[in-house]
Amino acid sequence: MNDIVVAKFGGSSLADSQQFIKVERIIKSDPKRRYIIPSAPGKRNKKDHKVTDLLYMCQQLAAHDLNFDEVYNIVKSRYIEICEGLNLDFNIIEILDDIREKIRLGASKDYAASRGEYLNGLILSHYIGYEFIDAAELILFDKSGKFDAKNTYEKVQSKLANVSQAVIPGFYGIMPNGEIKTFPRGGSDITGSIIARGVGAQLYENWTDVSGFLMADPRIVKNPRPIEKITYKELRELSYMGASVLHEEAIFPTKEVGIPIAIKNTNAPDDAGTMILSDISPVEYTGTITGIAGKKDFTVISIEKTFMGSDKSFFRKLMTIMETNNISVEHMPSSIDSISLIVSASELNSKLDKVVEEIRIYCEPDSIICYPNMALVAVVGRGMINTKGIAAKIFAALAKDGVNIRMITQGSSELNIIVGIENKDFENAIKAIYEAF
Ligand code: ASP
Repeated sequence: MNDIVVAKFGGSSLADSQQFIKVERIIKSDPKRRYIIPSAPGKRNKKDHKVTDLLYMCQQLAAHDLNFDEVYNIVKSRYIEICEGLNLDFNIIEILDDIREKIRLGASKDYAASRGEYLNGLILSHYIGYEFIDAAELILFDKSGKFDAKNTYEKVQSKLANVSQAVIPGFYGIMPNGEIKTFPRGGSDITGSIIARGVGAQLYENWTDVSGFLMADPRIVKNPRPIEKITYKELRELSYMGASVLHEEAIFPTKEVGIPIAIKNTNAPDDAGTMILSDISPVEYTGTITGIAGKKDFTVISIEKTFMGSDKSFFRKLMTIMETNNISVEHMPSSIDSISLIVSASELNSKLDKVVEEIRIYCEPDSIICYPNMALVAVVGRGMINTKGIAAKIFAALAKDGVNIRMITQGSSELNIIVGIENKDFENAIKAIYEAF
């Protein structure tokens, strides 16, 4: 691995000229920060708009032959403020007008949205004096729109081998036919991870507006402790809570080659943040867990059938029903004569009656009962392996708080314990478990 740090800055980190000044200070304070991935300007306050949302809006209006000047002028003023605030001698207006014209002439949704990152990248490169490399030269998608990992890594390696410092916009790349294609929303995180892997970075820094992950949701637990270190696997188990900090798909490129990710706060750069590591060895129980996360609004489909296990086709039929109805199953605890399917209520929406009917017909169970309004709480910690008493502590805390546990699962990796409870007990359960540890 090289002496290279790839640093991605999120939308709120680059929302106005004052934020650009903070970002420049961070980049220049460590010469290893050689490749910088900017997002588009995000919200400056709760009522503000993300530039990406405004660009989508412009494209939609243009596609309906409606005037989009009013919305586009908001975008324009955001970039002009940044350039003026930084005293940049750079003609952004000409580029902005050119993009407006392309949108007016029918540019695609992805093209319009990608210009948020493109423009921020141009400004940042001028401001910090790093070369600008368009993501369309590096990030490749195949003709079906799937990310083309092999060719992208080759491109990144060959192209950046002779460029010591560069700004590369996040969120988009190019298809073989020359069309711009974006990742899912929040996808600049993915670009950063791809570049980090492509150049063999020693670290991928993801700069945002929080000081890393917290042990629990701060809307439920008052001042939860920050998580200093977490493994990739633990983060996956806690994905219910992580999505707003780091895009779920962003961990895969770096995870595969073991590059750590640091989550850092642009507004408090001295805070430790969270380090995401591939393995923290030796695994030791430090007296606490890594984090607690959960989600409400699941439905449990509880199925009973005597000698379920000896009916060799039972599980296949059950899963085929879920597959053909396009429903993903979150968890599936079972006992000798019963199995429960835990499904997010939003996945089921209006399909529940149909699914139950199909299970009745094809699986011939003794009974099916559905329980709506269930919540799942995952308690995650690499230190659980070979440590006695963790489950006891969780269940004692829940019992003491009067929370009725309706379901328990523990993965064989012994990284997590998941409890199913009623929606109404959700906040209390998280508080009780947090207090116990
Ligand atoms: N600007 C894009 C979005 O708002 C991508 C990103 O911010 O990562 O989704």
